[in-house]
Amino acid sequence: MAQDTLFSKIVHGEIPADIIHQDDLVTAFRDIRPLTPTHILIVPNKVIPTLADVSEDHEPVLGRMLRVAADLAANEGVAEDGYRVIINCRDHGGQEVYHLHLHLLGGRPLGPMVRR
Ligand code: 5GP
Repeated sequence: MAQDTLFSKIVHGEIPADIIHQDDLVTAFRDIRPLTPTHILIVPNKVIPTLADVSEDHEPVLGRMLRVAADLAANEGVAEDGYRVIINCRDHGGQEVYHLHLHLLGGRPLGPMVRR
C-alpha cells in the first residue's frame, strides 16, 4: 500500500502496541520509548504524513485528536497538574515517523518548551 506507515500497521493490528483508545477516526497507544511517565501517541487512522499536509477535510480528525488527548490526560490522572501536547513537523520539527501524530506527555514537570 502506498501510504503504509509504521503507525498504520499499529492502527490495523499488524504490529503490536499498547493501544489505549480506538474509534472511527483516531487510535491512541503508548510510545515505545516513553520520555515521561505518561507518553501517549494519538494518530489519525488514515495516514496524513505531516501537519503541513492537512486540509479542510481533516478538520474533524484533528478535532478528535485533541479531544481524545484531553480525555486520555484525564484518565491518566495528569490533567490536574497539567501536561503537554506536541506535534513535530518534518525535518526541523524532529519528526521521525511520517504519519501525523500528537504526543501527550505528562506525569512530571516538563520544563521549558524548547532549548534555547
Ligand atoms: P516523532 O519524532 O516522529 O514526533 O515521534 C515518533 C515517536 O514514535 C517516538 O517518540 C518513538 O519513540 C515512537 N515510536 C517509534 N516506533 C514505535 C513503535 O514501533 N511503537 C510505538 N508504540 N512507538 C514508536
